[in-house]
Amino acid sequence: MAGQGVVAVALTWVDVSGITRTKTVPVERLEHAAAWGVGMSPVFDVFLLDDSIVSGRYIGGPTGDLRLHPVLERLVPMAALPGWAHAPALRYAQDGTPHPLDARALLRRETDRLSALGWSVRGAFEIEWAVSKDGGDGFTPAGKGPAYGMTRVTELAGYLRDVLGALKETGVTVVQMHPEYAAGQYEVSVAAEDPLGAADTAVVVRETIRAVTIGHGMAASFSPKVEAGAVGNGAHVHLSLWRESAADGPANAMAGGSGPYGMTAAGEAFAAGILRHLPALLAVGAPAVASYLRLVPSHWAGSYACWGLENREAALRFVTGAEGERATAANLEVKCLDGAANPYLLLAALLAAGRDGLGADLRLPEPVNVDPVGLSDAERAARGVEPLPSSLAESVAAFEADAVLRDALGEAVADTVVTVRRGEIDLLGGAAPERIAAATRWRH
Ligand code: GLU
Ligand code: MG
Repeated sequence: MAGQGVVAVALTWVDVSGITRTKTVPVERLEHAAAWGVGMSPVFDVFLLDDSIVSGRYIGGPTGDLRLHPVLERLVPMAALPGWAHAPALRYAQDGTPHPLDARALLRRETDRLSALGWSVRGAFEIEWAVSKDGGDGFTPAGKGPAYGMTRVTELAGYLRDVLGALKETGVTVVQMHPEYAAGQYEVSVAAEDPLGAADTAVVVRETIRAVTIGHGMAASFSPKVEAGAVGNGAHVHLSLWRESAADGPANAMAGGSGPYGMTAAGEAFAAGILRHLPALLAVGAPAVASYLRLVPSHWAGSYACWGLENREAALRFVTGAEGERATAANLEVKCLDGAANPYLLLAALLAAGRDGLGADLRLPEPVNVDPVGLSDAERAARGVEPLPSSLAESVAAFEADAVLRDALGEAVADTVVTVRRGEIDLLGGAAPERIAAATRWRH
């Protein structure tokens, strides 16, 4: 590391409100940090997005200390932050027992639970962000070109090249990048990995984009709603389920079967589990008051609890990929999620929902291959298509009523999720959209 010019290592973890928090060690101290950890207060678990602090049943107050241990296998020099490396961290108590609110450890537990059943998951976050011309509080979109327009690329070609270059140098495999719908908005998709890797990568990609943007004298927002009234930033999650014991290597349960559009029975059950738990999952995956400014019909955010083939208005979109590539490419895209979510906690909750579907061998209802907003109320009722929660309070109520998810996450996490969400509702619930957007814009 030191040979590569690394001076400082940022140990990061993501809090319940979706903010990446950090402690840094000089590279010479890394070995000591790996052995003994670095002190950090548990109170960050009850921080809100504006850095105010609520008190939870499990966490609160200024006392106590945890040990933050870098995960050395995921240590990576950050090309966009010269002299810096990044390591995701795991949090332990001083006696060496894992901290019950550690989201990365929780995700590990969920992958282990699936693995014990013979399954693994591959996943990736799509990252959308909006670029503002200056670093001021407001948002002034960089570039004037039309949605998805080449003009938007040309206007910021040097910047976008540097984003791609920095991601490559940092070891991230980008599969594509494009200008999005809203003014100044772009998206990058990265290759699927195991769930822990996908969450670590989401953190690294975001900090890389942020750094390159700042380096170009601009600012990047990953907020679900950068500007009231404009299309928001999603953080769609792509997932595929793999049978580990297949004769010729792991086999994708999303293809090659006799279920809908080629899903296997297990792939369908996993998808149906996610569909079943979507309202409650939003308390983890659309966790900000601003999330509900984004999650509205006709914004490709997937605001209806239904699934469909390639349907951008369905919360769960089945993506088959090109015909010859289905065996590796077919996957589920959960669209109703955004970048205010803690990626570890969110993947843990998605895996638990899918595991519930597998355990109950659930089937999917008929796919919805039209924009659900165009169906009459009677048609929607007949097809079992419900709008997803339209506020954080509704999602929290669904989460509280979902014993399966609460149980998978564990009482301390579930209770803290509810506490933090309630704190954010007290902070911003009922505020004007402009105020909510402004308060959220530069936080994640
Ligand atoms: N920006 C949209 C969202 O809020 C998604 C657009 C797309 O389908 O990529 O999720
Ligand atoms: Mg997009």
